[in-house]
Amino acid sequence: MAWLPVLIKACYFLAALLFILGLKRMSSPRTARGGIVWAGFGMLLAVLATFFLPDMHNRGLIVAAVLIGVAAAWWSGRRVAMTAMPQMVALYNGMGGGAAAAIGAVELIGYARGLGLLHAVPDTSPLRPEAWAVNGLPPALSPTELALGVLGALIGAVSFSGSLIAFAKLQGWLDKRFVFSGQRVVNLLLLAAAVVVGVLLATSHASMPLIALFFALALLFGLMMTLPIGGADMPVVISLYNAFTGLAVAFEGFVLGNEAMIIAGTVVGAAGTLLTQLMAKAMNRSIGNVLFGSFGAAGGEAQAIEGAQKPVDAADAAVMMAYAERVVIVPGYGLAVAQAQHKVWEFAQLLIKRGVKVKFAIHPVAGRMPGHMNVLLAEAGVPYDLIADMDDINPEFPATDVALVIGANDVVNPLAKTDPASPIYGMPILDVGNAKHVIVIKRGKGTGFAGIENALFYADNTRMLYGDGQAAVGELVTSLKEIDA
Ligand code: NDP
Repeated sequence: MAWLPVLIKACYFLAALLFILGLKRMSSPRTARGGIVWAGFGMLLAVLATFFLPDMHNRGLIVAAVLIGVAAAWWSGRRVAMTAMPQMVALYNGMGGGAAAAIGAVELIGYARGLGLLHAVPDTSPLRPEAWAVNGLPPALSPTELALGVLGALIGAVSFSGSLIAFAKLQGWLDKRFVFSGQRVVNLLLLAAAVVVGVLLATSHASMPLIALFFALALLFGLMMTLPIGGADMPVVISLYNAFTGLAVAFEGFVLGNEAMIIAGTVVGAAGTLLTQLMAKAMNRSIGNVLFGSFGAAGGEAQAIEGAQKPVDAADAAVMMAYAERVVIVPGYGLAVAQAQHKVWEFAQLLIKRGVKVKFAIHPVAGRMPGHMNVLLAEAGVPYDLIADMDDINPEFPATDVALVIGANDVVNPLAKTDPASPIYGMPILDVGNAKHVIVIKRGKGTGFAGIENALFYADNTRMLYGDGQAAVGELVTSLKEIDA
């Protein structure tokens, strides 16, 4: 069967094409769903082809593991609410990092055995069984493979433990601000220790205790690095770990000589890196500052907010917008919770019919995942030309009669500009306060993701329309129809 390896390589090539084209399709909400399906078929093809590798062993065990994984992912994927998607992504991403680290561990243990340090235990590694043919020992890894294996294991282990902490935080299981003095020094020492042990491993000093120490340090570093990160920095962290996992998989792909892993890992690593840069830019923070700046631990006295929140009822709010020239609608996480996107679009259409110029303004980190609001508005059928990015819409607020904020909080908080003690200080915001009037729909006095007060809600030109997003917009629709009747 001389043609089998060629066929497997051809499948990997096709899978790589599907990954890349799928990713390309994900860049627009119109084609994103199809893109995910394409990439999924690519992955399926790569996995199936791998089963036919001539040196593949333990097929039964692998099939069992795949079935368990598929069942768990199918069940959780169908049940997860859109608003819980970030923790889901963090968890799956952690699994990818963990898998890459596990491959690194198997390779390193095999290598240690090959070095003659652990000869007492026969090698059962399924990953490089071809080597056992020669004197029953695993093959020597080349220095490059060894170095990449160690690096992939380090990054994968950090991504694994870090993503699990991110998951626990987003799920609300962990306090968002775990900070102690000297934390940065401890973290840097941990990283330095992991790197030193990694270098020892990569320079032919592999032994079981050293391997165990290496993974313990790497896992601990991922944990300690993520614990102090909180507030609005989570989006950056999640996409950073996504990039880490991709890199780790690509490095381990080199060690295993598996092209599909190399390409898939590189694609994920590159996409994750770009996304991390975009998110960091949107938050106006450098990656180093996110990771080592103990975000959420800003010191000093928080700026006092004066005044009181002033309520408005739906009928009055509807009148304000019915006779406005320009209305900008600002969706946030609460819109996703309330699933109010369809009602909001119905309301916007009624306004447009009256001749009001309506736009939707999207902050890059509104909601709980990149593109969250775009996806919701696209689902409701809002045309793309009515949707504006932060940089485009901010200069338009002074000429806006009413800014209608629906379930957004952190992304419209002026304290990000004015209060250096605020945990979101420095994050660019939508300048809705510059509009002539602001109407904010939210259920009560609940804080946003960063857990802080919002000065916008107390401003003179702001009125609060309390209620669930969908119900409140429904009342606006009813009131507007009454005006039109
Ligand atoms: P926020 O989380 O800051 O605020 C949401 C507001 O919605 C709350 O104040 C809440 O107030 C209100 N709300 C909740 N449920 C409802 C409902 N059913 N109806 C009406 N209102 C509701 O949202 P933003 O979108 O402004 O900001 C996103 C935050 O999430 C940022 O801090 C960002 O950094 C962070 N983040 C973003 C990610 C991303 O990738 N986009 C990922 C992870 C975090 P009340 O309880 O009073 O109703």
